[in-house]
Amino acid sequence: MGAAGDILELSARGLAAAIRGGELSASEVARAYLEQIDALEPSLHAYRRVTPELALAQAAAVDDARRAGQALGPLAGVPVALKDIFVTEGVETTSGSAILAGWIPPYQGAHARRLAEAGAVLLGKLTMDEFGMGSANENTPFEPVHNPWALSHVAGGSSGGSAAAVAARSCALALGSDTGGSIRQPASLCNLVGLKPTYGRVSRHGMIAFASSLDQAGPMAREVGDAALALGVLAGADPLDATSLDAPVPDYLAAVDQGARGGLDGAKIGVHRGALELEGLDADVRARFEASLTRLEDAGARVVDIELPHFEHAVATYYVLATAEASSNLARYDGVRYGHRSAADSLRQTYEATRHDGFGPEVKRRILLGTFVLRAESYADYYGRAMKVRTLIARDYARAFERCDLIASPTAPIPSWPLGAKIDDPLALYLLDMFTIGANLAGLPAISIPAGFTSAAPRLPIGVQLIGPRLAEPALLGAAAAHEARCDWHREQPQLLEARA
Ligand code: GLN
Repeated sequence: MGAAGDILELSARGLAAAIRGGELSASEVARAYLEQIDALEPSLHAYRRVTPELALAQAAAVDDARRAGQALGPLAGVPVALKDIFVTEGVETTSGSAILAGWIPPYQGAHARRLAEAGAVLLGKLTMDEFGMGSANENTPFEPVHNPWALSHVAGGSSGGSAAAVAARSCALALGSDTGGSIRQPASLCNLVGLKPTYGRVSRHGMIAFASSLDQAGPMAREVGDAALALGVLAGADPLDATSLDAPVPDYLAAVDQGARGGLDGAKIGVHRGALELEGLDADVRARFEASLTRLEDAGARVVDIELPHFEHAVATYYVLATAEASSNLARYDGVRYGHRSAADSLRQTYEATRHDGFGPEVKRRILLGTFVLRAESYADYYGRAMKVRTLIARDYARAFERCDLIASPTAPIPSWPLGAKIDDPLALYLLDMFTIGANLAGLPAISIPAGFTSAAPRLPIGVQLIGPRLAEPALLGAAAAHEARCDWHREQPQLLEARA
C-alpha cells in the first residue's frame, strides 16, 4: 500500500486501522489528501480555507505517538474537514458570510476539539450557504461549490462544500450541520451517507447558530461505517450546551457491523405513501426509492403503510420558525464585536451599514421574514401557530413509530440541477426541503444513504432517507448498513476523478 490513489480510496475506518497497524503513516495520508485538494480545488471550490501546516503538524504528532507506543484515538490520522459553521480556534471561521470574513475565533468549538482529541487531522474549512441558509451553496459571497459528479451542477446545501469534498476524496470525512436538511440533502446529491443525529445528541457549542431549536451537527461520509465512527467521537453530553443530552453513547460501529452481517430481522419500515403523490417528485427519485425499499425487504425488513397527516405543513412551519430564530440569533452581528465593520458617522449608522454590507440577500430575506413573524401584531398568527403545528408534526411521528421502527422516504424530491438554474426562485428551493425538515421539527435522527443514479445523462446521485425515533441512531445505522451491503454505489467514483485517472 502507499500509492496516493489507494490511500484516497480507503474508508475513514480503513485509514484509521491502517495507521494504527503501521501500514500507513498519518503524514503520508495527510500529504496525499493535501495533493488531492491542490489538484481539484480549481474546479471544485469545496474549501473556504485549507490548513496544510496544521494538518501536517497533527499528522506528525499521531506518527510520533504511535512510534512512542502511546494509545491512539479512534480517528488517529484520519484527514477530516469542517463546514465553516464550526468554530476553530486560530483558524478563520465565517459561516459562509462576508460579515464574519477575517474572524479568527479565540476558542475551540466542541466539534474541532473532540475530533482533535480523537486524533483526527484537520485539512481545512468547507464552503457553505451563508449561515446555513440555502440548498445549493449559491447563497454565498464566495465561490460556489461544484458537484464532483457533474461540475456544471450544484452539490446541494447548505453543507455543499462538505459533500463535494468527501465525494471528491478531498477529505476522508467531513462534518456538516443540519437545521432543515443541510447534511442529508447535499449527501443525497453527492452519493454520500449523511447523518443528522437526534437533537441534543451532539453538542452545539461552537457551531454558529442559525435556528437553535433545530440545529444539529453530524457526519458526512462515503460509507455508513465512517459516519458511525465519527458519531461515536462527536456524541455525548457537553456542559457548554444546555440542550445536549446526557444519554449513554452506544457502540455505533457494532450496530453497523450487525446490520451489514445480520440484516434487518423483521424490522418494520414505514412509508407515508401520500407524500410520494405530491407534485414535483422526480420519476428517477421515485424509482430509486422503490428499489431501496425492495433492498431493505431483501435484508429482512417489512414495509408498512403509515400516515403523517401534517406532512404538507412542514415546509411552511419550518420557514416561520427557522426565520424567527435566525432573526434573533443574527442580531449579534453588529460590527462591534465580530468580523466585518462598515464604519459610519454614528453607532446606529454603523450597525445599519455593517448589516447592509455584511449580509447577503437570502440572509436579509430571512431576517426580515423572521422579524415580521415575531412582531407583536403577527406573533400569534404566525410564530404561535407554527409552534402548535410543530407539536402536531412531532405527534404524527410519535404515532407512526407505534406502527413501525423506521420511516423511509426520498431525501430530496429531485436530483442535482445546473448551477444558477434556481437561484432566482427561493420558494422553489424551500419546497425541496419537504422530506428533510420533519426530522428537524420533531428532533428525530435521520440518515441519507446512496440509492443509485438518474437514468439519463448527466448521471446524478439519488439518496434515500431513513428517520428513527429519538436516539435510535444504532437502528438507523444498522438499516443503512444492511442496505449498503446489498449495493455498490458507495464504491463508485465521481466523473471528476475518472477524468483525472
Ligand atoms: N434548505 C434549508 C434552508 O435553507 C437548509 C437549512 C439547513 O439545514 N442549514 O433553511
